[in-house]
Amino acid sequence: MKRRRILIVGGVAGGASCAARARRLSETEEIIMFERGEYVSFANCGLPYYVGNVIKKEESLLMATSEMFRQRFEIEVRLQSEVIAIDRENCRIEVKDLRAGETYYETYDVLVLAPGARPIKPPLAGIDLPGIFSLRTIPDSRQIKARIAEFKAQRAVVVGGGYIGMEMTENLRKLGLTVTIVEMQPQVMPLLDPEMAAPIHDELLKHGVVLRLNETVVGFEHNGDRSISVQLNSGQVEKADLVILSIGVRPETELAQDAGLKIGSRGGIEVDDHMRTNDPNIWAVGDAVEVRDIVTGHWGVIPLAGPANRQGRIAADNIMGRDRSFRGVQGTSVVGIMGLVAAFTGPSEKTLRHMAVWDETAQLEKVYLHPAQHAGYYPGSNAISLKLIFSKGDGRIISAQAVGGEGVEKRIDVISMAIQKNATVFDLEEAELCYAPQFGSAKDPVNMAGMVAANVLRNDVQVSHWEDLEKEKIMVLDVRDPSEYKNGHIDGSVNIPLNDLRKRMGEIPKDREVWAHCLEGQRSYYAARVLSQYGYEIKNLSGGYKTYTFRAATGSK
Ligand SMILES: Cc1cc2nc3c(=O)[nH]c(=O)nc-3n(C[C@H](O)[C@H](O)[C@H](O)COP(=O)(O)OP(=O)(O)OC[C@H]3O[C@@H](n4cnc5c(N)ncnc54)[C@H](O)[C@@H]3O)c2cc1C
Repeated sequence: MKRRRILIVGGVAGGASCAARARRLSETEEIIMFERGEYVSFANCGLPYYVGNVIKKEESLLMATSEMFRQRFEIEVRLQSEVIAIDRENCRIEVKDLRAGETYYETYDVLVLAPGARPIKPPLAGIDLPGIFSLRTIPDSRQIKARIAEFKAQRAVVVGGGYIGMEMTENLRKLGLTVTIVEMQPQVMPLLDPEMAAPIHDELLKHGVVLRLNETVVGFEHNGDRSISVQLNSGQVEKADLVILSIGVRPETELAQDAGLKIGSRGGIEVDDHMRTNDPNIWAVGDAVEVRDIVTGHWGVIPLAGPANRQGRIAADNIMGRDRSFRGVQGTSVVGIMGLVAAFTGPSEKTLRHMAVWDETAQLEKVYLHPAQHAGYYPGSNAISLKLIFSKGDGRIISAQAVGGEGVEKRIDVISMAIQKNATVFDLEEAELCYAPQFGSAKDPVNMAGMVAANVLRNDVQVSHWEDLEKEKIMVLDVRDPSEYKNGHIDGSVNIPLNDLRKRMGEIPKDREVWAHCLEGQRSYYAARVLSQYGYEIKNLSGGYKTYTFRAATGSK
């Protein structure tokens, strides 16, 4: 049998998993992986924690070495070797040996592109000044550590409040630096809905982080003491010993583009569901490619390690003659922020509305709940704030977001799988999940989310939402205890504790809608069940006072 030559560009998540899988499926092919950097298969996701000294040794970031690829898989790895051109006509690539400075050609039968995405670096004045860093590689993290040590750095500015911004903030705080986050959106973690990001703002402020929201950086200047002045559009200036740029990444598509491969409208390499480009001999995987969102059907670029690894494996399967399709993505993600965990799967409400997937005609609904992550009687129980979006028509789950402590990601993972399998809120109701008091509840938060949503679909209760409070002429009924009411309440609300409801029902008007709420939505659900049976027009304010206070923290009215 002819020994095919498989050349792979990029040797980290997508490239390395493709190479290893290809070898597991075939002992006959020649496989060569080209990596521009000094390391193959390193843990880029661990870099912020290496900067923060949580991961102590640089070697721990190396998942595999060139030597290991050679010995275990008979895969040749060429480090510091940049592929600079693809000659599709002659099926060959041009490689620059970055150490020797020489270029040479290698022919291929199959070419796999896994070049990833590079951090966005806007053309701002002073952007190249020493002390301003992006984080993508081990040498980047080494330089950040060196800067902190050399300057005995005390102040950092993190530009961009996404995942990497959050992780760097946490780690720089761990090292004792003060951190200011500059974010152009009104919230950090822009992929979350604003009310779900509100607890993250609280957590950051609690840990002394300064938030400059709705601000953009317009330039950088060096000061006499070699610190950096970060100039903001508001005219404010933040002084820092180091700056981390974490404003997103852009697919590395130059190589593909120059070779005439199709680039999609969102800026990634276009591939079919087999991960094949428009050239039958060329495949592409990872951050560099466009992927289809399985919920909205829209194409986009979603830079995550899980999809990159799975795509590498699927490409290898197809290259070896199997028929495997990539299902698409939901963007399922998790991030740790100091003591908090935030996770989500599927598009946010904001995104759905922006895409006009959620408009007046769309039959979508949402519920909020704040169940404990494990039985309340077992020590250490904490609330998970959960938002579930679903179709009002058939109950299909669209997306979920959760913020809390322990157990957040477990719930989002379960819901993520449910979304992949086109499940409904009724399936969440019935999901059989493991339980012991230290791990969950007999009615797990996932079951609870399903039950709360199913109650709405079965018309057991109607829900209303905090953002509509001011639009409607309604009576707001607070069924918490008077002591809770005294500690804070919605302006104009009337307090009738749940236990007094039947005897004080005469105080509730029947000529207008009543929106009941408690702290989290459970007692007011009971109230709604009672009142609806007495002919009141009653809705449960979803998520209760807790979700209402999240809204307050977003600054929205
Ligand atoms: C700091 C950080 C933290 C992250 N944390 C998480 C996380 O917690 N969870 C998560 O899901 N994702 C995380 N990610 C994203 C995740 O690492 C990426 O989605 C994933 O690595 C993408 O894999 P890839 O193979 O497409 O690209 P990469 O892993 O970036 O690999 C691409 C490689 O190709 C090489 N290359 C590019 N062009 C060429 C060329 N012309 N010739 C030769 N080599 C080339 C590059 O040097 C690079 O090493 C993080 C990323 C970073 C930077």
